[in-house]
Amino acid sequence: QPYVNVIGAGLAGSEAAFRIASTGIKVKLYEMRPRKMTPVHRTGDFAELVCSNSLKSEDETTAQGMLKKEMRLLGSLLLSCAEEARVPAGSALAVDRSLFSRLVTERLKKHPNIEVICEEITSLPDDAVTIVATGPLTSDGLALFLQRMTGKENLYFYDAVAPSVTLESLDLNKVFKASRYGKGTDDYLNCPLTEEEYDKFYYELVNADIKEGHAIDKSLFFSGCMPIEVMARRGKDTLRFGPMRPVGLKDPRTGENAYAVVQLRQEDKEGKVWGLVGFQTRLKWGEQDRIFRLIPGLENAEFVRYGVMHRNTYINSPSLLYPTLQYRKNSYLLFAGQITGVEGYMESAATGIIAGINAVRLIKGEKCWIPDKVTMIGALLDFITSSPGDNFQPINANFGLLPPLEKPIKDKNLRNRAYLERSLHELKKYSELFLG
Ligand code: FAD
Repeated sequence: QPYVNVIGAGLAGSEAAFRIASTGIKVKLYEMRPRKMTPVHRTGDFAELVCSNSLKSEDETTAQGMLKKEMRLLGSLLLSCAEEARVPAGSALAVDRSLFSRLVTERLKKHPNIEVICEEITSLPDDAVTIVATGPLTSDGLALFLQRMTGKENLYFYDAVAPSVTLESLDLNKVFKASRYGKGTDDYLNCPLTEEEYDKFYYELVNADIKEGHAIDKSLFFSGCMPIEVMARRGKDTLRFGPMRPVGLKDPRTGENAYAVVQLRQEDKEGKVWGLVGFQTRLKWGEQDRIFRLIPGLENAEFVRYGVMHRNTYINSPSLLYPTLQYRKNSYLLFAGQITGVEGYMESAATGIIAGINAVRLIKGEKCWIPDKVTMIGALLDFITSSPGDNFQPINANFGLLPPLEKPIKDKNLRNRAYLERSLHELKKYSELFLG
């Protein structure tokens, strides 16, 4: 009898296992906890929320709200358990974390088609369709195996990323396109600062509130990944000789070099998302909002993700995966969750649903499904599998990833609703097919 191996019973693995088992196919679900713990998990329960107990907004005019709508339509296990474990949190969906994980664990352990095996996997089985969903804290043994399998350069161990913003939210009158010393094409967007603007920015940066978060490996700081605020504290001009150096970047409008420059680099194929080069940071998100908006051109920036620095194991999906989540070199192997380069509880869970759907389709000999890019899930899959591979950074759900509407809508709320309607219209065609 055919079965699927699911490795990791976190957010993605739980969704995937449930989805597969619900179609009558057997699942071997491997989870190493509680026998072997990660540095962050506290229990042996499945789908443990390691940090916040919020699954973020349910407001349909937000990207997170849209993602949840799509997941519900695709029969999300986690969202049905979250409903039962809900605690009051305004428009956000927050849960009693232990009840939530207990409910998920019960639903999976009681399922007649799921066999739970408490074991650390350190090499991938090749006896069946397999989904790897071992998350940002994938055990060292498996990480080593994956590194050998994918190549050293294709497995990352840290999320030391700079904030990214949408192109449409930038004031392009203040920004100019150029590459340093005119090398190659004008690939970068450059935000020039006067001395006065730099001084203000610098003062706010060195006095900003920092998120200590979970323990971060000190070695990260020594490997060329120093947070911008730490670098700034070394001296007033350190940034002007580092990531904000203005040399070789003459503003074509003045013919002069600015006092300092912040460079933005394209992060997606279509050029909708741009990252602040060298701005990896541990500033609190509110502080990033406040301080990075002091940069000329970024006054109204919409951050599609904030800078973070924490342990995060993820693969270079653009060169390793198809948007179906299949491994390019072995179509019976799929990846799901944070290890694919999505970021966040719901984003991870959503990719688990898709991996589950496609594992079933593989077993049935059917063509794997790629959700359309007009859906938030499809847009995430497109981003992680088609971004430039040499600068791949994890991504949260956000409207900046979606293709523009046929007819542009100015009002943000109405525009976001139109995105949602477009997505649900598309997804409904498939949800019945998959849910039977
Ligand atoms: P996980 O939920 O971590 O599941 C992976 C599972 O695989 C785990 O149960 C693990 O024990 C198991 N496993 C690992 N290796 C093996 C192996 N070799 N064999 C068998 N089992 C294995 N996102 C948010 O939206 N909000 C937050 O507040 C938030 N806080 C975070 C804090 C930290 C410290 C980290 C690291 C991440 C945080 N994230 C947060 C990001 C992310 O959403 C979560 O990590 C999420 O749990 C990822 O889901 P996942 O299914 O990919 O991985």
